[in-house]
This record gives sequence, structure tokens and C-alpha cells, in this order.
Amino acid sequence: MSNPKNTRSVRYRPIALEPGKAIKAVLDWLFPPRCIICKDLLRLNIHKEIEYGVCELCEDLLNVVQPPFCSMCGIHSETDVCPNCKRGRIIPNKAVFEYDPLMREVIHRFKYSSRPLYANGLARMMMNHLDSRFFDSIDALVPAPMYHKKLKKRGYNQAEELARALSKSCALPVITDWLVRVRDTTPQSGLSIDARENNLVGAFALRGERDINSVLIIDDIYTTGATINACGKTLAAGGARAVRSLTLAIALKHIDDNAVLMK
Ligand SMILES: [Zn+2]
Ligand SMILES: [Zn+2]
Repeated sequence: MSNPKNTRSVRYRPIALEPGKAIKAVLDWLFPPRCIICKDLLRLNIHKEIEYGVCELCEDLLNVVQPPFCSMCGIHSETDVCPNCKRGRIIPNKAVFEYDPLMREVIHRFKYSSRPLYANGLARMMMNHLDSRFFDSIDALVPAPMYHKKLKKRGYNQAEELARALSKSCALPVITDWLVRVRDTTPQSGLSIDARENNLVGAFALRGERDINSVLIIDDIYTTGATINACGKTLAAGGARAVRSLTLAIALKHIDDNAVLMK
């Protein structure tokens, strides 16, 4: 004789996760996220979520940019404005971490390991070191754009992923269809500052018109600033009245025209 209670007791509750979160949960279970640096399994954060990025122990090993640095670009400098910034119009930049060998490894894995979600942990680390009023006068975040063929090959633009992750904290819009890269360029590695600037002539353009006063360009690394300055000039020509930039890291080594830089 069947128990009537049993006939109605087994009822599966629908999964309460949104489709994107459900997929992420399955992927996290199949491929548990690990620290970019030490590869240890990442733990749940205070929100009971796994935040892709760097574990707490490794985060302490990263070097935050410390003074003295150039007030314009953020590169290490004993003078208020470094020789490079004295040369011409420069977009003021704020960089959070030194581009040392460890950060170089972090950025390399962020860009080439098909894990755009690392941006969440990296953006959270950036926010930890930014003044609470840093975003006050900004109207929108504009990631340094990637050439469409390169974007297709890599699958994501790391600057855009960082911008989207930052926007979760600062609540500013991310604009990706205004500033575009219309020309691919030869790799910047090994080029002098002048050669880098020449290499980027005509590389960026604006699509349509926007009435945006203050723009913050987001990128992963600042080396000579050639890319950010080229983006900034294009945005200014399109009507942006104030353009600044924010980068995850900066190559602090003093540079000159003959320097060979790695990216
Ligand atoms: Zn670690
Ligand atoms: Zn400078």
C-alpha cells in the first residue's frame, strides 16, 4: 500500500541561478579557478563567490606604485614631470602596480589564458588602491580598443574586460563603440618612443558623435604612453574635453628615445 505522502514529497526545485551564472558555476566545478600566480585553488570571497584573479598571499607580492613618480604619467621620476612628458601633450595617467616580472606574468596570463574573468580580481585590486574620489569627475570609461582581427583571435579585449569589471564598482558606463582601432600596427615591443608614436598614426578613429565631457581611458599597461596618448588625442578631437587614463600597471624604468621596452 503506497503512502500518499510519498507521492507528493519528491519535487525538484528549479535552479535559482541565471543562465550565465549557472554556466559559470558548472565551469568552476569542472575547472576550479586557480590563482594566476601560484596556481593554488582560489577560495570563496566574502560574498560566497569565487573571484578569479590573484590569491591573497600573491596579492601581497605585487608592488604598488610608490612616489617619487611623474605627476603626469606616473613613471618613476625624481622630478615632478618626467623628460618624456615634458616633450609634449600627454594624457594624465594613474597606474596602480609596477610592471615588474610578477605583474608581467599576471598580465600575460590574463591576456592569453582565455580567462577574461581574471579582470574581476584585478579590478578589485586596483580599486583597493584608488582614492575614493578618483572617479568623481569622470563621465565614462573607454577601454583602449583592439583591432578587430586581433580581437577575434584572442576572444576578448583585456582592457574592455578591466573596464567592465571596474564599472561594477564605480557605476560608470563603459563605451566600446565610439573609439575604435581602424588599423593594425606592428608590435610596439622594441620600438623607441618616437617610433611607437609614428607606428600609431591613424590607428584610432571615432564612430559617431557623443556628448561626453570627461573620459577615462582604461588599459592594462602603460609603457611609453604612446597608445594612450594616441587614443586621447582622438577622443579630444571628437569633443571630449577632459581625458585621463587608468592602467593596471606601468613600466617604471626610466626611458629615453633609445630605450628598448618590452610589452
Ligand atoms: Zn597565489
Ligand atoms: Zn611622465
